[in-house]
Amino acid sequence: MKIYADNAATTKMSENAIHTMVSLLEDSWGNPSSLYAHGQMAKEVLEKARADVAAVIGASPDEILFTSGGSEADNQALRSVAELGRKKGKMHIISSAFEHHAILHTLERLKKEDFEVTLLDVHENGLILPEEVEAAIREDTCLVTIMFANNEIGTIQPIREIGRICREKNVLFHTDAVQAVAHVPINVKEDNIDLLSASAHKFHGPKGVGFLYAKKGIRLTNLIEGGAQERGRRAGTENVPGIAAMAEALKETSSRMDENTAHLTKMRDKLISGLAEIPHSALNGDATHRLPSNVNFCFEGIEGESLLLLLDDKGIQASSGSACTSGSLDPSHVLLAIGRVHDVAHGSLRLCLGEDITEEQVDYIIKSVKDVVSYLRGFSPVWRDLMSGKARFIL
Ligand SMILES: *Cc1c(COP(=O)(O)O)cnc(C)c1O
Repeated sequence: MKIYADNAATTKMSENAIHTMVSLLEDSWGNPSSLYAHGQMAKEVLEKARADVAAVIGASPDEILFTSGGSEADNQALRSVAELGRKKGKMHIISSAFEHHAILHTLERLKKEDFEVTLLDVHENGLILPEEVEAAIREDTCLVTIMFANNEIGTIQPIREIGRICREKNVLFHTDAVQAVAHVPINVKEDNIDLLSASAHKFHGPKGVGFLYAKKGIRLTNLIEGGAQERGRRAGTENVPGIAAMAEALKETSSRMDENTAHLTKMRDKLISGLAEIPHSALNGDATHRLPSNVNFCFEGIEGESLLLLLDDKGIQASSGSACTSGSLDPSHVLLAIGRVHDVAHGSLRLCLGEDITEEQVDYIIKSVKDVVSYLRGFSPVWRDLMSGKARFIL
């Protein structure tokens, strides 16, 4: 059996998105900035995609800026609001400890440029409390940036409430919604979102394409200088086939959200109950406020990497917190943020299911993980110490 269960890392492109992309590569390869018919055809494709993307999240087309993906959108959102803040003497930013590195590393850079950053603690269940955001807001706060859904443990934050507080306090609110767009309902107006980042390859579109939503009136700072593309906010000839394929994938995946959610939630909960039978294991993140596709466990006494390799032998492609920063042995900053100690965080497994997952496949995953965990524990010195009482169990 072959099961791809790493859909938080990337997703397979949909047939329709591939078709859209290939046919545009063949037929609509003009430069959208050119005035002759072939260029204008590409321009129409581009603007149709912009309108489609905007409609899905409840924005207007001129609030959508196409980027090279989620990382660029995150960088541009943070840089832009920081610049606006600097002009008003507001140089304090609020975020959380378990954001994606596109956010955390940008914040590190901003700190070197004299901004002050408050990283809110994440609770054990992987959630951030709106009242803690409220308490952290100061006179000089220019931005709150909190991710919509976490990419490792899948927890979904109370975005609408956080957005409401930011509006009340007159602070701009950005959300990295890369894991959430097309998978959970989002309406930027109802959810009080000022800026939002998304990436096509997380919803069955191509890699290297994404978008930034910025509410009308928010002045964006360019990361890339040059021509006047994207109304002067991002230079460079637009990736028309990629952008159109993104719009296609976004419409398609969003239109199936209800059925996908119903099916995935059932499969996720079955997988969670099955894996919870493994002794000294624990689910990471809240059981219900989480993406319907996400399962993330810690197993005491084993190494995540060995677990992944043995599961790969059984045809199951998954990931581990520590594998994210591949090459480094640091455990996941997300698992540490929810209070897992190093040893436990090392034995983590993330399974992110695809919409086509079947009940038989879930059964196979449960059996395989059980087998591999007990096999690895069989010769783990850490496990031996735990069993003999030399070390104490944490889970
Ligand atoms: C994947 C991901 C990103 C980065 O998106 P890219 O398009 O790969 O740059 C940012 N934030 C989150 C939460 C992600 O899951």
